[in-house]
Amino acid sequence: MRVRLAPSPTGTLHIGTARTALYNWLFASRKKGQFLLRIEDTDKERSKTEYTTNILEGLEWLGIEWEGSPIIQSERIQEHRDAIQSLLDTGAAYRCYATDAEIEAMREDQRNQGKAPRYDNRHRNLSPDQESKFISEGREAVIRFKIEDETFITWDDLVRGQMRWNASDLGGDMVIARRASAMEIGAPLYNLVVVVDDAAMEITHVIRGEDHLANTAKQLLLYKALGLNTPQFAHTPLILNQEGRKLSKRDGVTSISQFKEMGYTAEAMANYMTLLGWSAPEGMTERFTIQEASSVFNFDRVNKAGAKFDWDKLNWLNSQVIHSWSPDVLLDALKPLLTQEGWLLPEHEWCISLMELIGPSLTLLTDGVKQSRPFFEKPVLEKDAINQLEKEGAKQALKCLLDHLNQDPWDGIQLDQAKELLAKSAKSANVKKGLIMKSLRAGLLGCMQGPDLMSSWSLLARIGKDSERLTSCI
Ligand code: GLU
Repeated sequence: MRVRLAPSPTGTLHIGTARTALYNWLFASRKKGQFLLRIEDTDKERSKTEYTTNILEGLEWLGIEWEGSPIIQSERIQEHRDAIQSLLDTGAAYRCYATDAEIEAMREDQRNQGKAPRYDNRHRNLSPDQESKFISEGREAVIRFKIEDETFITWDDLVRGQMRWNASDLGGDMVIARRASAMEIGAPLYNLVVVVDDAAMEITHVIRGEDHLANTAKQLLLYKALGLNTPQFAHTPLILNQEGRKLSKRDGVTSISQFKEMGYTAEAMANYMTLLGWSAPEGMTERFTIQEASSVFNFDRVNKAGAKFDWDKLNWLNSQVIHSWSPDVLLDALKPLLTQEGWLLPEHEWCISLMELIGPSLTLLTDGVKQSRPFFEKPVLEKDAINQLEKEGAKQALKCLLDHLNQDPWDGIQLDQAKELLAKSAKSANVKKGLIMKSLRAGLLGCMQGPDLMSSWSLLARIGKDSERLTSCI
């Protein structure tokens, strides 16, 4: 059993492609088959190596491993040309000399008659004389593969069941090589190269998005004409936006690297994408690793209907993943983000305490940066913190606390000592304990909401930053 992902490196790794990769990988893992990668880079103008890098890095990040080195489609052009030549030799394909202007005029006619646009197969049976005349006029030709209108194309789709396509809906004889002089074979096109490559790679199951249904119908005709074994097909549902339309660049975030940058974990992304179109069997929770999913994955539970992208569910899964991590794992994940801010991390124990403090409230990894900021930078006071410090007795109370701290600095460890300092200061300033606590939060963290106050103070005290913070706000 061999499956493949065949991304075109004309953009970054899209969530739809990543989900297709995942379903291929899950199916291969379940069936102990092989998952291969083919980079479809024949569109030289739009293909870029940085996109190939982005795609490979994205798959690696998600934990989707492939077999061997990726096959590079552009290196196989001779095989593609040979296949086209064989179709020309058997008469299954022919050269079409129609100019762009002629094709446009034909389409215009069809539009005027209210018909769907299709090639009318006008050059299918040119006589040798007509052909020589076109060549002597200097016309170039595309190569077209014959599609017999009267045929039905059927296959048993692993997701969609019995499929039946009317060949007359495929738009007439199909172009398989771009325009070139009549002596040559121009650049081979998608449907032809995919068939040649999938057959050469001995792919047994083609798993891809349902936007390829018409291509599958065309490709099945090519398999037959080339005398190749046909694989089985599984067409996965599209990913839809909130309005129920295909998720596209216009919806903002669509590429895996963007999700990563936003602070989503690879584990939650892979978990969520698996659920985008597949439902876990009864008894299995919706929170799983892809290794767990691979032991039960099959196409019976893949939906035919499009899958709506649900941010709330993704966020929930992401928080579940982060909350399940030990402080050490969280620290490993956050370290690059924290050092990227230019922050020097204190000793390991302190960092672990910070993780224990902020971890339970994180939804995104980037929230970890936000929550850590007051421990590395002097906070800019938020409005409600300013208001708190303006309250009667607030600054006086903090001044008393600071005096006590200067005489008897808190090491950040003995909680009783800190409580005593607070009680003493409240008494000297003649304010309630609540007021001094709230003012302390305002002064230390610059905001009225956030992590536990005593633990936050402890962290700041351990690096000798608490007095400094209080001094600057009174
Ligand atoms: N390069 C094609 C794409 O990215 C591959 C489709 C296929 O899997 O055949 O859509």
